Amino acid sequence: MPETVPVIAVDGTAGSGKGTLARNLANELGWHYLDSGALYRAIGLAVLERGANPDDAGACSEIARGLRIETQTLPESIRLLLDGVDVTARIREPEVGHVASRVSVHPEVRRALLDHQRAARRMPGLVADGRDMGTVIFPNACLKIHLTASLEERARRRQRQLEEMGINARLNTLIDELNQRDLQDMRRGASPLIQAPDAILIDTSACSIEEVHAKARACLPGILTQSDKGTHS
Ligand code: C5P
Repeated sequence: MPETVPVIAVDGTAGSGKGTLARNLANELGWHYLDSGALYRAIGLAVLERGANPDDAGACSEIARGLRIETQTLPESIRLLLDGVDVTARIREPEVGHVASRVSVHPEVRRALLDHQRAARRMPGLVADGRDMGTVIFPNACLKIHLTASLEERARRRQRQLEEMGINARLNTLIDELNQRDLQDMRRGASPLIQAPDAILIDTSACSIEEVHAKARACLPGILTQSDKGTHS
């Protein structure tokens, strides 16, 4: 029964470190990993490529419903295929992130991704990251973590990520963009980014990756023990 497969939900703002934490937890536990943001980015990319208007709910949901999104887990990375084409690098482009945020406000687009996300819940467990993992997609997750960090720190992290991709961006521009994206994610009517009442809040502003991992890890022992004993079958 999928409902009995344990899920750890990691939600938070852009650049709060949720992807890194979720991937590392999944590796450590030997669980599956779901990057739900990559799915919205895939739809954003398709909307861009087809020249559709990201604010047109009907057009975006039609595109979302018609897409074949597949993930391939390799030893060192996870590849995302859109209608058979590898778009792993392209969905990380800043423009795709902005469009992803715009298309994700449409309830029909979110519905089109529901089954795909819930199908990732497979034994021995799933670590899922996004904005609504603990509130909407997996409300009965056995552990919910909500990550936050100051706007400036998140912009600095984004700047470093972009530098690694060979893209130079001004810090102030990134601060404005992140702020705009946060507001859009928090103010939308459909599955807004909010902290689940039963989520544990971790502020990662002054923490290293290892420190954030250790804080999350400290919430885990019970779950690990249960899963080691195979109680979640
Ligand atoms: O996490 P990431 O920044 O890759 O997500 C891109 C965009 O997709 C977010 O800004 C957000 O608008 C949207 N998203 C969402 N719900 C999720 C994951 C991402 O609305 N569960």
